[in-house]
Formats: sequence, structure tokens, C-alpha cells
Amino acid sequence: MRKLAILGGEPAFSEPLHVGRPNIGDREQFMAYTRQMFDNRWLSNYGPLVKQFEQELCQFLGVKHVITVCNATIGLEVAIRALDLHGEVIVPSFTFIATAHALQWQGITPIFADIDPLTHNLDPRSVENLITPRTSGILGVHLWGRPAPVEALEQIAKKHQLKLLFDAAHAFGCSHQGQMIGNFGQVEVFSFHATKFFNTFEGGAIVTNDDELANRMRRITNFGFSGHDKAIDLGINAKMTEPCAAMGLVNLQSLNTFVEVNRCNYNFYQHELTKLQNFQLIDYPEHERANFQYIVVEVVETETGLTRDEILTALRAENVLARRYFWPGCHQMEPYRTENPSAVNKLPVTEAIAKRILVLPTGTSVGKKEIVKIVTLLKSILTNSTAIKKIIASYG
Ligand SMILES: *Cc1c(COP(=O)(O)O)cnc(C)c1O
Repeated sequence: MRKLAILGGEPAFSEPLHVGRPNIGDREQFMAYTRQMFDNRWLSNYGPLVKQFEQELCQFLGVKHVITVCNATIGLEVAIRALDLHGEVIVPSFTFIATAHALQWQGITPIFADIDPLTHNLDPRSVENLITPRTSGILGVHLWGRPAPVEALEQIAKKHQLKLLFDAAHAFGCSHQGQMIGNFGQVEVFSFHATKFFNTFEGGAIVTNDDELANRMRRITNFGFSGHDKAIDLGINAKMTEPCAAMGLVNLQSLNTFVEVNRCNYNFYQHELTKLQNFQLIDYPEHERANFQYIVVEVVETETGLTRDEILTALRAENVLARRYFWPGCHQMEPYRTENPSAVNKLPVTEAIAKRILVLPTGTSVGKKEIVKIVTLLKSILTNSTAIKKIIASYG
């Protein structure tokens, strides 16, 4: 048996294995779109490729309006402004920091709610407990692509007359109750960042079934312009460019393949990880569409007391660049930590879960061979835990 890299052996992988390596569709088709784009001399400002991409997205999601944007963070900001959110908005802390920043950037205070330990999504009771006269909305997140508790949040929003929107950055191609994510709340925002399983280099989409809101959001993404030389809103430049739309069109053609690869990898990880009690793979809802883009493992306290972070250090030494999404939680990062230092006491589940999660590599650059190797490594790490603890302690 080989020696673990952390104990002085050679790394199991000669090249680093990343989480979120981009999936890339048909290159020739992308080049063809690029030639078309140069021939048209139309590079941005709602060109033919953006229009086609938006139409195909509308069809795929079964929604009335899709507004493509340069990235999901700006997309969230546009949606937040179009909904007239102000004062306080309730969000999970267990999410990527952009969810909170999109509010704070506009002078709105994100109020962090706790999550459900099983789903890692917002706990509706925690949300309701945080409502004050200053609350104007709820910004839910479909974490890992698993739907947030949509119905419960809708009920709370209705009861307290709050706006409801979703950060759907993880949930492109996922469904809830047979309906595609994108149809819930007043607005949903997808991310097509390079690290997401479906990418447009950078990019995103704001989607809604509300005509008036769609018009307003479209205007805001284009400086507030309503026709030539006439700004009627405070706007920003959030437009998607033609090359990004070309990448989107190409990747849409391969979407089913990407999901299939992720699903196979997920199933194989599940099969392999059953041998290891200390690593519990989260599951995805049955009878729904899922994109399986994250291999999320909860590290259960080992007999030898190896922590998640020690396991991460040992994996990284092997060139397995696993990630601790979303540690330590938004409430533990600036500016939120300084502004609201007591939030930490009110988020026990977020605190506990954020310490236990490891996200492992998947996607089109990972296959069975790599997965077998990764799981074998996890097993050896457990076997060698005493030695590993000693080595890491010696780092000081
Ligand atoms: C990736 C991500 C974002 C930000 O998306 P960008 O397109 O990179 O701006 C927002 N929220 C969540 C939950 C994300 O994972």
C-alpha cells in the first residue's frame, strides 16, 4: 500500500483535481457562432445570440421571461432593486457570500436565518421568527440545487406581505413538484459562472412570470433606458455579451450529457462511500430533475477524532482539491461579522453543518477511476488518522 502524501509519500494525483472544473460543449459549434458574431459585427446589447439564448432558456424552463445578465450577483442586485426591497431581508447564512453581498451592496441588511439539518436549506420557523417591521422580503437559496422549502416560504411571505425571491445559482435544470426551478417566488436568478456545471464563461439569468417586473428588470439591466436617450429608472449595465450567449447555446446542447455525467459520478460515489460510515453523501430528491453538480459529504466525527479540516489537509496533499462550501457561513465573514457579532449564537445548525461539509470533485473531468482513488484515499486517511493528527499538529 502506498504512503499517504501527508505522511511523506507521492501525491495520488500528479495534477490537481479541482471542484468546479468547467464543462465545455461542442467547440466547433462555438467557433461557428463566433464567426457568425464577427460577420454580424454585433458583440453586445441584445444581439441575435443573446435573443436566441433567452428564447431557448424560456422554453427549457417553461417561464415567460428570461433576462440574461453578466453574472448572477449583479442579477440578484437587479432583482432586489426591481422588487423595491429595503430595510431588512431574510436570507440563509449557509450560502455563497454573494447572496448576502447583493443585499448589503444596496444598503439592505441581510438577516441570517438558520437552516434545516437534513436539507441544508432555510428553516421556515427560523425565517418567521426573524420578521420585524423592517423586513421587506425573503431571499431563499436552492442550496446544492435542492429546492428551498418553497411552499412554506410562500405562505410566510403572503401572511406578512413580504416579497419572495430565490437565488437559484445552483439549481439550473432542477425541478420542484414537477415544475422547473425558475417558476417560484416573484423572481429567480441563475448563475452561469465557469465553475457551475452549466456555464457561459461568466453570466446568469433573471427569470420571472411577471410581465411588469420583467420590463422593469430589463430596463435596469440596461442603464434604466426605455427606448433611445430616455432613462426612466436608476439602472446599471448588467448585459450579457454575444460570446457568452454563444457558449450558453453550445452548452445547452450538451446539458443532458453534463447532467448524465454528474449523475453517474454521484451514483458511483454513493456506491463507493457506503463502505465508509464516516462520510455521508447528501441525497437529491427522487422523482424530480436534479443536476447532481455537487458531491456533498457530511463528515461524521470519527472514532479517532479526525476533523473535517484535517481530512481536507490530507486530501489536498494528494492533489484532491476538495472544498469546504460554505464555511464559515456568511455571518462569520465581513462586514456581517463586525456588524452583527451575536448572529453566531442564533445559528446553531449553520454552525454545525458548516464544520462538517466537504465538497468533492465531479463533472466531465472526473470519472470512475478518479472516484475509486478518492474514496480509497479517504479510507487510508481514516486508517492513518493518528499519524495524520500528529503531523498536522506539528505544523503549529
Ligand atoms: C455562484 C453563486 C452566486 C454568484 O454567481 P456569479 O454568477 O458568480 O455572480 C450566487 N449565489 C450562489 C449560491 C452561488 O453559488
